[in-house]
Amino acid sequence: MSEQNTISQPKVGIVSLGCPKALVDSERIITRLRSEGYAISPDYQGADLVLVNTCGFLDSARDESLEAIGEAINENGRVIVTGCLGAEAEVITSRHPGVLAVTGPHQYEQVMEAVHEHLPAPDHPFVSLVPPSGVRLTPRHYAYLKISEGCSNRCSFCIIPSLRGDLVSRRIDAVLREAEQLVASGVKELLVISQDTSAYGQDVRYARYNWKGVERETRFIDLCEGLGELGAWVRLHYVYPYPHVDAVIDLMADGRILPYLDIPFQHASPTVLKAMRRPANQEKTLDRILNWRARAPELAIRSSFIVGFPGETEEDFQFLLDWLKAAKIDRAGCFKYENVATAKSSQLDGQVPDEVIDERWHRFMALQAELSDQRSQSLIGATVDVLIDEVDEDGATGRTKADAPEIDGAVFISRADNVQAGDIVKVRVTDADQCDLWGELAIN
Ligand code: SF4
Repeated sequence: MSEQNTISQPKVGIVSLGCPKALVDSERIITRLRSEGYAISPDYQGADLVLVNTCGFLDSARDESLEAIGEAINENGRVIVTGCLGAEAEVITSRHPGVLAVTGPHQYEQVMEAVHEHLPAPDHPFVSLVPPSGVRLTPRHYAYLKISEGCSNRCSFCIIPSLRGDLVSRRIDAVLREAEQLVASGVKELLVISQDTSAYGQDVRYARYNWKGVERETRFIDLCEGLGELGAWVRLHYVYPYPHVDAVIDLMADGRILPYLDIPFQHASPTVLKAMRRPANQEKTLDRILNWRARAPELAIRSSFIVGFPGETEEDFQFLLDWLKAAKIDRAGCFKYENVATAKSSQLDGQVPDEVIDERWHRFMALQAELSDQRSQSLIGATVDVLIDEVDEDGATGRTKADAPEIDGAVFISRADNVQAGDIVKVRVTDADQCDLWGELAIN
């Protein structure tokens, strides 16, 4: 840091909890802070105040958020709270009356007002400190691209719409411009996130904007086409299997979008999906997945599921296991259903006892481990493209096109001279377990 920057520069510490969407909120707040001349403190002691970006999705996440606020108060004393749990200010202030201010999710203006009130900005903002691509908390070579806020679905177990409101899509030209700047600043992989990526643009009736001389609709497929022109890996998260999603499979087969779909199916039994009030809840989903696989054989599907939803019978659960086998879901997380006090599902009849939920969870995980293992073993001997995340004295670690950062597997490469983070290299796979691969650089 230059000497000029250290002169009376107010310092803000950031604690960012929750999902990638919350991480993007933190990045935006940091970008604003830096553009106004604030410094970001890496620890509590060096900070003039601490911002805690909270998560309020599940009761366990709420507890974690409340504990993080308590720790920040103990360690620093001056704390502003924002994020999902911030939508319920009284929950925070009753447990931690000493917080300076509470704001809700993506209320950037309110967060900045609270910061200004408790820690005034310096007289001479260091605007030039902020690169055009903003400030990111992810490593330099990948970045999350948030395309919308909120959600217009009303899944019965979810309180996100009541915390974050209905879908609000960003303009397609603004999203593509941000993506282009990220790629120009060295980003090799764009991770598209929202609550419902396939619903992008519905709220603005697919408004048209010009980008690079071409008129484009604020629409899922137009966005994918635009992103596919940038030359980076483009990974789609939180996509629902609406019929219009079929069109993106051709972009995957052509290599313009990564052959990867993160689809939070949550269940497969039509009865449970109906009780969950899931979007794109169609019985033909399995046929559609098989059709996608025929058109883009490299396609990897990541999903998440909930077991023990109220009313789930043994038959429903067995339906889910059979469906998993038939769809060959490549990567899956499984949550044990948990009542969230303000969610509609907490009022449903047929609550499943905890021991049954545990037993189903173990059966689910055992099957998924088998399916993941089959997929990994089938890759031994193959040569795959790997994006390098880290290099150290033991070698390099990276990911294939089928692996998103933080949630999927890794590839460990033992001898990796002349390789650095952000490189895309060819690796011959020599060994595998359920999640991860081991390999060596392939000679071109
Ligand atoms: S799609 Fe359903 S689970 Fe996802 S944010 Fe919207 S309401 Fe919640």
